[in-house]
Amino acid sequence: MNSSSRLNIERVVTFEGARQIVLDQARQVHGDMSGREEEVPLLESLGRTLAKDIHADRDFPPFPRATRDGYAVRSEDVSQPPVELNLIGEVRAGGSLPEGFGELSSGQAIAIMTGAPVPAGSDAVVMVEHTERHGNSVCLLRSAQAGENVVVQGSEGVAGSVLISSGTLMGAAQIALAAAVGKARVRVQRRPVVAILSTGDEVVPISAMPASNQIRNSNSFSLVAQVIAAGGEPRQLPIAPDEPNRLRELIAEGLESDLLLLSGGVSAGEYDLVEPALSEFSAEFFFTGVQMQPGKPLVFGRATAKSGRRTYFFGLPGNPISTMVTFRLFANIIVAALCGNRQETTRFLQARLAADLKTKTGLTRFLPARLIGDLFQPEVELVKWQGSGDMASFARADCLLVVPPDQEQFHAGETVSVFCI
Ligand code: AMP
Ligand code: MG
Repeated sequence: MNSSSRLNIERVVTFEGARQIVLDQARQVHGDMSGREEEVPLLESLGRTLAKDIHADRDFPPFPRATRDGYAVRSEDVSQPPVELNLIGEVRAGGSLPEGFGELSSGQAIAIMTGAPVPAGSDAVVMVEHTERHGNSVCLLRSAQAGENVVVQGSEGVAGSVLISSGTLMGAAQIALAAAVGKARVRVQRRPVVAILSTGDEVVPISAMPASNQIRNSNSFSLVAQVIAAGGEPRQLPIAPDEPNRLRELIAEGLESDLLLLSGGVSAGEYDLVEPALSEFSAEFFFTGVQMQPGKPLVFGRATAKSGRRTYFFGLPGNPISTMVTFRLFANIIVAALCGNRQETTRFLQARLAADLKTKTGLTRFLPARLIGDLFQPEVELVKWQGSGDMASFARADCLLVVPPDQEQFHAGETVSVFCI
């Protein structure tokens, strides 16, 4: 009895079809994100998704700000350089204008430093490089447009406006911005709990010395690492044997999480029991195979936990590279959605192929590769590998070269699609 006859559903889709199905489900997850927030100290928001908009607490910048060291002038005064203007003082970042100063009059200039407020009356800053200082006066050697080297008050954000929207992933730039508006604590989405269940009679804990017919459970480790990187909270379950009762028990436990990831047991062999076991939990299978390599036996669906909740699951193929690649290309999208992250986390880039390449058609292939080349000429070169079990080669790759299913021959210099892992 093979897995397709044990199952009443067999649904093999193209890579793009599978991606669309996962993206569609991710959109549904977004619609259902209420009540999953918590407040954390600002730095703990790194890598998490903002749950509440962050507003400007005042105008940004709070005054018209000089972006160059030089002289604040009235632009109309310097329309026909060279022009000699009276120097009436100096203003530096963090400093203030001279006592009693009202407004810059025609014929006057003020020395100004980057970051300082541009005084009333002036509308431009002439860079110091284009001036000559003569004691109490300064000669402006170039004209300046109104607004030159000045950032208008509130132009980066007026008081009360949204600077970072809910749903944004917090990185260094967003943390800096939150700090700039004085947010010592921020509201973020709770991390989704992602259960990880490795299956296989041959799989043993990494602390064990494997017999010659056993292998260490590396998949749970790659998955824990990938779940953390995607913003989830991993929950590692014990290894499931290829035996229906224990497998069922562990699946029941895993379905009480926000997402269940299984590795192994999804091929068509007699001991590939994952799909039939999931069917016992009223599983809906969105697909049970993808025309891709590595990762062909990938399964995606939703099942009912004992508690009644409907939980997404992925049955990832057990080959270590297939597990990592299918997580990154598909499961990552659902983890990000469960994190409330509305940004695209699986982007494809273009690069020039470093050497000729010949493959077989029929499947979308993801070949371990490295990005090389220089600043304006990114190139991609293949890493030699022995197939979906070759972890040593995969660890030398930093991207996947994407080969479409309908092209067999590629030439050096051709533009190809690349996925960064
Ligand atoms: P399966 O998908 O169960 O047919 O497994 C395919 C291959 O992946 C087999 O060679 C397994 O030994 C290997 N494999 C399965 N599970 C794991 C795991 N947790 N860690 C490392 N390799 C695994
Ligand atoms: Mg197996």
